[in-house]
Amino acid sequence: MDFLELYLPRRDIINVLDMVESISDIYKRMSHACMRAGREPDAARLIAISKTVSADKVREAYGAGLREFGENRLQEAAGKAALLRELNITWHMVGHLQSNKSKVAVELFDLIHSIDSANLLRLVNRHAAEAGKVQRVLLQVKLAEEESKAGADEAGLEEMLEASASFKNIQVDGLMTVPPFFEDPVRVRPYFRRLRELAERFDLGELSMGMTGDFEAAIEEGATMVRIGTAIFGERGYA
Ligand SMILES: *Cc1c(COP(=O)(O)O)cnc(C)c1O
Repeated sequence: MDFLELYLPRRDIINVLDMVESISDIYKRMSHACMRAGREPDAARLIAISKTVSADKVREAYGAGLREFGENRLQEAAGKAALLRELNITWHMVGHLQSNKSKVAVELFDLIHSIDSANLLRLVNRHAAEAGKVQRVLLQVKLAEEESKAGADEAGLEEMLEASASFKNIQVDGLMTVPPFFEDPVRVRPYFRRLRELAERFDLGELSMGMTGDFEAAIEEGATMVRIGTAIFGERGYA
């Protein structure tokens, strides 16, 4: 365990080993889902959603081998990223992005999953140009009528794709969705399938879909990234 002690106090190593167990269980379920769908066992990546989770817990998950983390609030993400600067973390933005925060988002995130308008795309392109960066993004699509959810409809998606063609500092890697919640993951499958059809139609490679309750169904339907919080860090306590 010497390698862990490089960045963790010994008393935390037990926590890391517990986390290794949860994560290896998730990886097993992910690779079985891949194989059921005839995909390579490592065809989907695990993005650990660390919203509400302390920087110390993120450090433990890093100690357990994870390198990709997702946050949904900018300020919280910036605080954690500053505390964990010495770690080699790839940060993902999975929450709704307000246009007045797009500059900070470009500074902070390797991949923004939640672009949902051509206007936001234009702002991100401008800030990326200023920062001398090509910002990788996913376009968030809303596939059901849900007032409370972010995401573009299909017409909005086409509009974003047309706009992106002229944005030199944007790279559109794929699509993301947060489908309606169902107790039974079978019912969520049509949404995952629909997102894959859209990605195929527009020739986009990455599909960010699937969370703790439904990631296996998402992988069977083609997810390349699953966003998992609860199964790694436990139930979130919203204070
Ligand atoms: C919180 C969150 C997740 C993770 O949800 P879990 O059910 O805890 O795995 C995934 N995606 C988004 C966009 C989230 O906000």
